[in-house]
Amino acid sequence: MSCPMKDFDINGVRKDRVVTTSNGYQLNAPFATQRIGEHGPLLLQDNALLDNLAHFNRERIPERNPHAHGSGAFGYFEVTHDITDICGSAMFDTIGKKTKCVTRFSTVGGEKGSADTVRDPRGFATKFYTEEGNLDWVYNATPIFFIRDPSKFPAFIHTQKRNPQTNLKDADMFWDFLTTPSNQVAIHQLCILFSDRGIPKSYRNMDGFSGHAYKWSNKKGEWHYVQVHLKTDQGIKCYTSEEAAIIAGRDPDICHRDLFENIEKGNAPSWTVYIQTMTEEESKHLPFSVFDLTKVWPKAQFPLRPVGKLVLNENPQNFFAQIEQAAFAPSNTVPYQEASADPVLQGRLFAYADAQRHRIGPNYNQVPVNCPLSKGFFNPLIRDGAMNVNGNFGSESNYYNTNSKYEFLEQSRPIQEHQEIWNGPAVPYEWVTSSGDIDFIQATTLYRKVLSKQDGAQARLAHNVAIHAANCKSTDLQKKVVDMFSRVDEQLGNDIRTEISAINSSNGKPKL
Ligand code: NDP
Repeated sequence: MSCPMKDFDINGVRKDRVVTTSNGYQLNAPFATQRIGEHGPLLLQDNALLDNLAHFNRERIPERNPHAHGSGAFGYFEVTHDITDICGSAMFDTIGKKTKCVTRFSTVGGEKGSADTVRDPRGFATKFYTEEGNLDWVYNATPIFFIRDPSKFPAFIHTQKRNPQTNLKDADMFWDFLTTPSNQVAIHQLCILFSDRGIPKSYRNMDGFSGHAYKWSNKKGEWHYVQVHLKTDQGIKCYTSEEAAIIAGRDPDICHRDLFENIEKGNAPSWTVYIQTMTEEESKHLPFSVFDLTKVWPKAQFPLRPVGKLVLNENPQNFFAQIEQAAFAPSNTVPYQEASADPVLQGRLFAYADAQRHRIGPNYNQVPVNCPLSKGFFNPLIRDGAMNVNGNFGSESNYYNTNSKYEFLEQSRPIQEHQEIWNGPAVPYEWVTSSGDIDFIQATTLYRKVLSKQDGAQARLAHNVAIHAANCKSTDLQKKVVDMFSRVDEQLGNDIRTEISAINSSNGKPKL
């Protein structure tokens, strides 16, 4: 139903700018309040005032717990290469096909108003409005993550946020969690986080990664494990810790501003989208589990295959409506793209949609930015609830009525009966770090084979860890940090130890 105000034209004022209260009553004077006499107390009957003040109190919705601070824009995904042998989703079916999308970038630990230039992974979430429904790729700017047991997520995030007593970021909490032997599986992610790439210069200058293995299939029912990489076409650019600290004070919204202003100027950022694919058979011969979110798939063995381009060329008209209310969940998927059994992904299938129901309400998919634009939505069982604004399917029966006809489209791919057969009792299982080096190997490869080729990158990794860990009040904990990084490479441990000692014996500890 369109707003009837648009049909009015009064005194030459633009039709939709005749001001009213929220129930449409004409507002005669914007700042007058009803009083007894000119200076007496106010009257409870003054709905214009109450409407104004009461709505103001309710302007904020709960901010996301992780990923509260973000920026976003609209754009499109364009297919440049045929991958129909891997994925039967309609969005990939024709070279040149474009699908509208919205992307939200974010930091993880900080609150909504926190600075852009913090050392923190970045979220990179995209909602594609495909003809088969909305598809969300809820990715990060790092190819891996800190944990692989979803039950650890709340504890882990707590340690990255604020101390419950001091309400300050807390190096002791941070490193106590991460140096606990069963949590040292985070070492690979820590080496990326504290490397140069831990503070991207802008959202335009960073990559995106699915991190998890997903399960994609083609129209014949053949399937692969798939990882998605979005490589920035603007090149990787990053801040040093020292530059970032200064900018956090001078221009805390620098990445937000950069994204908005570049798109406004017509300088639309883009990412080249690639996939890595792995057969089930290949996954059986990996030295690690395909469901392990702390490992990358070596590119020499699983090369990047180009798919398309993601282009962001349209700023939101209203940040709250279109970016703050954008609700991403990996459970929003389309035919031929499925979750794998990666336990963290399985946990996210529940947790993300649940977070949106808490933040926005059970009808969050009725908010225009979240509506399945192309496909539409019809389900007579999903009714009512707070803020139902789509007409609630009118007089439709609220169950599958025997007098009505419903269409249930058949699954268009063969049922995958003979694959990934899971068998066994329900058992408690914690996927702890192994006593051998398997969880350190890729961190060591990064340090010895990748960072060694970038001038000064190994030393900067040691420096970035040291200036953070030097904030630990416990020297015992500082030693644990050194011991953990020594398992990546002895030189790295030595460099961190030397710099922490130097900071400890001076008085000026860098603040977190
Ligand atoms: P390659 O040796 O073929 O390539 C090295 C990769 O490391 C490139 O993707 C490069 O990105 C990336 N890289 C460079 N500097 C950093 C940094 N500071 N932080 C994070 N990534 C960085 O890769 P391999 O597959 O043989 O893996 C070697 C190591 O590279 C892994 O142990 C892992 O730590 C890291 N890596 C691997 C990725 C993968 O998917 N295989 C993805 C990202 C990192 P660019 O091309 O932009 O220079």
